[in-house]
Amino acid sequence: MLPYANLQEAETALGRELSGAEKLWFKYSAKQPDFLLYYHNLPLFFLFYTLAPLPYILVHLLCSKKTQIYKLQPKNYTFSDMLTCYTRVIRTYLLTVGFLQVFSYPVVKWVGIRTNLELPSGWEMSCQILVYFLIEDYSNYWIHRLLHCEWAYDKIHRMHHEFSSPMALAAPYAHWAEILLLGLPSFLGPAIVPGHILTFWLWFVLRQIESIETHSGYEFPWSPAKFIPFYGGAEYHDYHHYVGAQCGNNFASVFTYCDYIYGTDKGYRYQKAIFKKAKEKL
Ligand SMILES: [Zn+2]
Ligand SMILES: [Zn+2]
Repeated sequence: MLPYANLQEAETALGRELSGAEKLWFKYSAKQPDFLLYYHNLPLFFLFYTLAPLPYILVHLLCSKKTQIYKLQPKNYTFSDMLTCYTRVIRTYLLTVGFLQVFSYPVVKWVGIRTNLELPSGWEMSCQILVYFLIEDYSNYWIHRLLHCEWAYDKIHRMHHEFSSPMALAAPYAHWAEILLLGLPSFLGPAIVPGHILTFWLWFVLRQIESIETHSGYEFPWSPAKFIPFYGGAEYHDYHHYVGAQCGNNFASVFTYCDYIYGTDKGYRYQKAIFKKAKEKL
C-alpha cells in the first residue's frame, strides 16, 4: 500500500510532478495492500491462459485447411479435447499455484519485490526481464532433463507428454509437482535481481505467452519470435514432444544454446539435416 493519502502528498514527498504512468499506478495501487498486488499473478495467469491461445484455436477451428502447411504434426484436436485440457489446467493451477501464492508472499517481500510509486524505466524492465529469461532457461533445462529420468518421467513428467503433438492450451498442462518444480526457475530471476511488481507481472505474462507459442503446434514464418537470437520456438519444442519419453533432445524452455553446449540437440539437428536434404531432392 502506498504511504500517501493523495497525489499531491505523493508529489510533495518525491519533490516532483508524477508521470502519467505513475499517476495511473497511484490510482490503481494506492489503497491495495502489497499481498493483494502479489496475488494478481494467478488472475493474470488465467486471463492470459484464456486469451493468448485464442488466435491458435481460431486458426485451428476456422481455417484448418489453409493453415495446414504451417502445422508441425498432422494431429487435429476437437473443441472438446481443448475444453478438457483447459479445465484440467485451471483446476491444477488453482490447487497448486493458488495454494502456494498464499504462503509465498513473505518470501516475495523478503527478496525485495517493490510496489512503490517510482516506476522502473523501460530499459530497466527490459534488462531485468532478459536476465529472468536467461536464468529461467538455464535452470529449466536441468530440471526438465532430470524429469526425463525413468522414475521422474513415469511419476511426474509423463502427463505433460500426453500431448505428443502439442497445442497452445497444453503449454501449462502438467502434473502439479512439475508445475511447482518448474515454477522455481521462474521465481529465481526475480529473487536474484528483484525489481518492481510491474516487472514481475510482465515477466510472468511474457514467459506464459512464449510457452503458449512454443506449444502452439504451428510454425508461422512471420512470427516475430524468429528474430530473437538463439530462440527455440514451436518446431524446436515440438520435436521434444514428438519423440516423447526417450527424447534426449531439446530440453531448454526458451533458447537453444544450452542444448547446443551440452550436446542434447544432436538427434534433432541430424533429423533436420535429413529433412532438408530430402526436400532439396524433391
Ligand atoms: Zn519433456
Ligand atoms: Zn512441452
